[in-house]
Order: sequence, then C-alpha cells, then structure tokens
Amino acid sequence: MKDTPAPEDTTMTTQQPATKTVQRGFPGLQCFHCGHSDCVSLKLEDLALSCGECDVEITREEVDEHLARWQAVSRWLDAAPPTQ
Ligand SMILES: [Zn+2]
Repeated sequence: MKDTPAPEDTTMTTQQPATKTVQRGFPGLQCFHCGHSDCVSLKLEDLALSCGECDVEITREEVDEHLARWQAVSRWLDAAPPTQ
C-alpha cells in the first residue's frame, strides 16, 4: 500500500515541489543540527523526522534527549528560590 515516489523524477520541476502530501511540517520547531526554524518535517509513511535545511534525519532518541535536557532546566527552575 506504500506509494513511494521515485527519487529520480523525470518531469521538469522547479525548486519548490508543488504538493508534498507525504510530509508534514512542524512550524516553530528548530533543527537540532543546523539551528534553522520551520524546517523540520515528518514523513508520514515511516514517521521519520528530517530537516529540510541540512537534510539530516532527526531520531526519536534525539527528540527525547532534548526534551530531557529542557525538563531538567524546568525542574531546576521550579525548585529554585524565588528572586526579587
Ligand atoms: Zn537542519
């Protein structure tokens, strides 16, 4: 049932593909690798995250790792004494 488009498309296309139905972007997300925003997209067919800027695949482990780091910051801030 997988409809994978051929990587070598023989039709004349411009730089911007008109329709990309298999990818979903996540606005506001920043790529861990190149730091660009609004370039992380999800391939619905295999649920792989990748960056449109640096073309690096972002693994689930990396996402969890980053979340864990920010979670630690959040916990620390919660525990920190209030500043005046
Ligand atoms: Zn990137």
